[in-house]
Amino acid sequence: MGCAQNEVDSLKINELLSGRGLNYTSLAKANFVIILACSVRQSAIDRIWGKLNLWKNRKKIYIVGCVLATDKQKLEKKYPFLTILATECFFKQIPRLFPKYPPLINLLSCENFENKRHRSRQTPDHAYVPIQFGCDNFCTYCAVPYTRGREKSRPLKNIIQEIIKLIGQGKNHITLLGQNVNSYGLSKKEKQKNIQNLRQLTGDKLLLENEKKSITHNNTGSFSDLLWKLEKINGLKKLDFLSPNPQDMTSEVINWMATSQKFSGKLNLPLQSGSDKILQKMNRRYSAQQYLALVKKIKRAVPDIELTTDIIVGFPGETKKDFDATFKICQKIKFKNIYIGKYSSRLGTVAEKFFKDDIALKTKKERFEKLNQLPMR
Ligand code: SF4
Repeated sequence: MGCAQNEVDSLKINELLSGRGLNYTSLAKANFVIILACSVRQSAIDRIWGKLNLWKNRKKIYIVGCVLATDKQKLEKKYPFLTILATECFFKQIPRLFPKYPPLINLLSCENFENKRHRSRQTPDHAYVPIQFGCDNFCTYCAVPYTRGREKSRPLKNIIQEIIKLIGQGKNHITLLGQNVNSYGLSKKEKQKNIQNLRQLTGDKLLLENEKKSITHNNTGSFSDLLWKLEKINGLKKLDFLSPNPQDMTSEVINWMATSQKFSGKLNLPLQSGSDKILQKMNRRYSAQQYLALVKKIKRAVPDIELTTDIIVGFPGETKKDFDATFKICQKIKFKNIYIGKYSSRLGTVAEKFFKDDIALKTKKERFEKLNQLPMR
């Protein structure tokens, strides 16, 4: 029901169960259905309600992944036949749902699963490789930090081993995945430093203070260290990552994009809003001006970059002036593509508790359409 991370998780579940004598099949033939919930937008939970209504008499249904406690209670009340695994590390509990089929691996932890299994992938040459789980950012519209827990980076050596194995299976294009991929390996203190630097700096000096990163939890090194290590892997032809946060972008990462032989040339840099007032309400820790300066720096270093972004329209309190600021910045940057979401209040998030979802659906749709019609680069 969600993003690329969700897709990877569903592939993992498929592999976990296929290895135990159960087979993936069409919905019509299935004896049971596993729904993998998404934690970012309420619309994903709404879609689950829609599906349950359709399937309630036909299937044994499991819901796993990012489900907030409040959603869990409501779903269980309405559909008592549901089994919901809403924990940070739900993978290790999945085998227990099917006791007739013994697990092939000892799932002591999610990381254990990550490191021991190599997932089937959908395209012949491309694979996603998660490099971190959870998130520390607490954007007010998002439930990830509550459902997936605090940010944890995978050890470097496990990532390298996984990529080498994938190359052995015929993959040559790797996309590194994480909720805030470019804070890979950073300690809390260093993240705070990044944010302070970003707040202080403007113009071309924006990233200068961000350059020194030291070894942190998991002995991972910084994100740019990781990129340069992966660059050296034989057989790897293309490398990119999804999704970086503007607040943690560094000159070192930009330098990698500019000089790497393997960078795919594609970068998704979520803006979310072009209004400082809304960015603050979203708890995004950069201003529109800082975002623009960052893009300028990236385009100067990588002139032919294919830049895309994510925007939420209709966030609580978004006036016409706020939306116009978003429109203008998108017009100015000329993205290759904009992934637009109409804001929907996600139960249990800060935005749901403290801000009224006060923008009419009609207005959200109009703003969506207006942005959607912007000519792309
Ligand atoms: S960066 Fe913000 S939107 Fe992205 S996962 Fe973390 S809290 Fe959610």
